[in-house]
Amino acid sequence: MTIEPWREPKPTIAQLRRLVERIKSYARTSRLMGYLSTAILTILMIQLGILVYSYFIPIFWGTPFPPLPEWYYYVMFITFALSMVVYGVAGSINARLNRYIIEYKKIGIVVQLRCEECNRTSERIWEKDDYIFKTEGTCSCGGKQFISQMYLMPLPLKKGQEDL
Ligand SMILES: [Zn+2]
Repeated sequence: MTIEPWREPKPTIAQLRRLVERIKSYARTSRLMGYLSTAILTILMIQLGILVYSYFIPIFWGTPFPPLPEWYYYVMFITFALSMVVYGVAGSINARLNRYIIEYKKIGIVVQLRCEECNRTSERIWEKDDYIFKTEGTCSCGGKQFISQMYLMPLPLKKGQEDL
């Protein structure tokens, strides 16, 4: 029986650490963009509300409302354009974050190798047919190494975001 490599080239633990760092920074930026888009949407809604109020209230109730100055429309247009930019940037950041998360789900499992003699440990990415206590290679001290742990590389995210 031959064991096919499940992925070529094999990802390294350094690549996984870089990926986790990238996920961390993108998650932070994504959160920030979320706050920003909420804020800009609120501002836009208020501006729209004033516009609607100024046009419709006088029709039904005849309450005089001073006509909106010309600059008001420019400000509204700028807010709208800005919200489009914010949504575009937020969308591309979230798309990248999702791609990184998918990659993380593929390679996020880490295997810890431990030396029987000196207890020195090293890590590598999980491979097909790995199992606990499987012996693999020799340590620099000459002792035999075995797989002592398998775990998911932790994502440094805030609580409630672990299920990303
Ligand atoms: Zn050793």
